[in-house]
Amino acid sequence: MLNIVIFGAPGSGKGTQSERIVAKYGINHISTGEVLRAEIKAGTELGLIAKGYIDQGQLLPDELIIDILASTLDSFKESKGVIFDGFPRTIAQAEALKQMLAERGQEVSIMLDLDVPEDELMTRLIKRGQETGRADDNEETIKKRLVVYHSQTSPLIDWYKNDGKYQHINGLGTMEGIFAEIAEAVDKI
Ligand code: ADP
Repeated sequence: MLNIVIFGAPGSGKGTQSERIVAKYGINHISTGEVLRAEIKAGTELGLIAKGYIDQGQLLPDELIIDILASTLDSFKESKGVIFDGFPRTIAQAEALKQMLAERGQEVSIMLDLDVPEDELMTRLIKRGQETGRADDNEETIKKRLVVYHSQTSPLIDWYKNDGKYQHINGLGTMEGIFAEIAEAVDKI
């Protein structure tokens, strides 16, 4: 089983690189952000709750997102592994993931930290907002998301270092170049 956590600030390229990882390694993909956006689009009760947090640039409560993650994980049959994109985002979520995988006789194989400087993140997200109309990609909300990333999510870097799973990836450069660095790290597992 190849269980990859793809990690990084908003705009670091997790979604783009996840697609390439899925294509090369044939594993399942869970993007919590995409799951939530689909719920919002479908107008479900969960979508309504999610929208309140996302529009404010805040994280959803851990219990809620952990439940969503667990049911998505259970929906994969005959899986070769999973790429976790946008989860975990807090220490509580990382602990829950560790436990969830242990209950299935598995573990995280590697955590890939896509490292991108802050000014570049802002440029990319503003551009994405203009191109896609994604509601949380506006300057005010992006700033809030970056604050949340630094306070609640970046402590996971040390958490995964302690767990012996951490791999730094330079997130600046061409998409191909970044993917080559990822593939080199994954192939060494
Ligand atoms: P990005 O990483 O570009 O900020 P995502 O698409 O991964 O965007 O997530 C969008 C939003 O969805 C987040 O800002 C947050 O409000 C919510 N969200 C996604 N994943 C999680 C999570 N694991 N825990 C809590 N909230 C989440």
